[in-house]
Amino acid sequence: MKKTGIVFFPAFDWSLGETHPEREERLLYTQEQIFEEGVMDLPQIKQYSPAVANIQDVLRTQAVFPSPKHHELDAHLIAVGCSLVLGKALMAQEISNGFVLVRPPGHHSATVVWGNRGFCTLNNEAILANYLRTYYGVKKIAIIDTDVHHGDGTQDIFYYDPNVLCISIHQDGRTLYPGTGFCEEKGGPNSWGNIVNIPLSPGTGDEGFIYALEKWALPAVEEFKPDIIINSAGQDNHFTDPLASMNVTAKGYGKITEMIRPDLAVLEGGYSIQGALPYVNLAILLALAGEDYSGVREPQKINRRVLGGEKVRSYIDDLYKYFQQIKPNWRYAQGQNKHLPAGKWVSVEKEIFYDTEMFREQRHDLIRECQHCGGTVFIRTRNQATMEKAMLVKIPFEACPACEQAGYDLVEHYKKSAQTLLLQNQLRNQVLFWENGKEVNLFASEN
Ligand SMILES: [Zn+2]
Ligand SMILES: [Zn+2]
Repeated sequence: MKKTGIVFFPAFDWSLGETHPEREERLLYTQEQIFEEGVMDLPQIKQYSPAVANIQDVLRTQAVFPSPKHHELDAHLIAVGCSLVLGKALMAQEISNGFVLVRPPGHHSATVVWGNRGFCTLNNEAILANYLRTYYGVKKIAIIDTDVHHGDGTQDIFYYDPNVLCISIHQDGRTLYPGTGFCEEKGGPNSWGNIVNIPLSPGTGDEGFIYALEKWALPAVEEFKPDIIINSAGQDNHFTDPLASMNVTAKGYGKITEMIRPDLAVLEGGYSIQGALPYVNLAILLALAGEDYSGVREPQKINRRVLGGEKVRSYIDDLYKYFQQIKPNWRYAQGQNKHLPAGKWVSVEKEIFYDTEMFREQRHDLIRECQHCGGTVFIRTRNQATMEKAMLVKIPFEACPACEQAGYDLVEHYKKSAQTLLLQNQLRNQVLFWENGKEVNLFASEN
């Protein structure tokens, strides 16, 4: 029998504050609802226990600066660990799909972590994806983000990665945090087209969301041919959500899940704790388990206008046409860095805002353009609040010899002078860290 795995981690002792929307009781009502509906008694449901991820699994994917010991990561490491638990169960074929019901969420947490952004410190899905690539040789992964907010952290982590397709369907960034996720954001020089953003108008409901999936997102997945599909299952598109303005129903979420057919769904946002989360989670879980979700009804009815019909369809059609004709426009590094190894390097500068602690990060990314692999990435970052600086060198999975060497050359050149330098050698499954010119073993206490 096909099993659906489930793991709960409500993190009852962790929150950003008593009145914060991302608070302790977020999963309480869900747990009750799922037990009450007898879902846990279904023969195909298999429950797993939470586990803790180790720092190496994090640092393979994210650069936590100035160093992991400067952050309170306990709850985040368990949320990540739960994702890995179901990832392993999937790989061992104990389950055919699974739902990671955890908090804190992760999809706003990006390549570099100086602090918490949009309630997220570590990116559960990204760490999971790279874990599966490292230990199980999974080649291609699609991550479909159905949270109402743009999955900007996940997008950032895989922006230069040709083997991960990131699709985010969200409320238009002109009307909602984090203010990104536009069609023009389509990926880096070796991964152009692997980032797909579908910004929907506020008011869009089940019909529009499902139309966008059918006409745009799912054909992109089909073309990409992923080995695994991960769904960042945010639930704040629900019409009762206090943070956003979309009109998706619990039953709509069931349909969305049925259409995406994720191997693993990982909970993201969703702040209507009593009015939506228990019902949306139930519908998702039933859809994953192949059960009928059509009877799942939230207690409240939609009492506002839903953007639907021809209006929403033609809006999405026009946006899709626009998306298809967007062309890249790279800026190359020229003379600004004489220590860059041979090759053509694309230069991208950006600023990232950390809304939880209200500071900015200044980032300069350099990507080695390559016909043969994802290309080595060199990132220089500065925390604008503390003025701390750090560097990240990323040698990608399946790096070609020239890109691998370019990564080592960068490390050789900067390891003595950098305040902090992290090498993510995804090719060799190696993470190395230097502080003030000295190599530091971050994993000494781990087994
Ligand atoms: Zn959200
Ligand atoms: Zn290469």
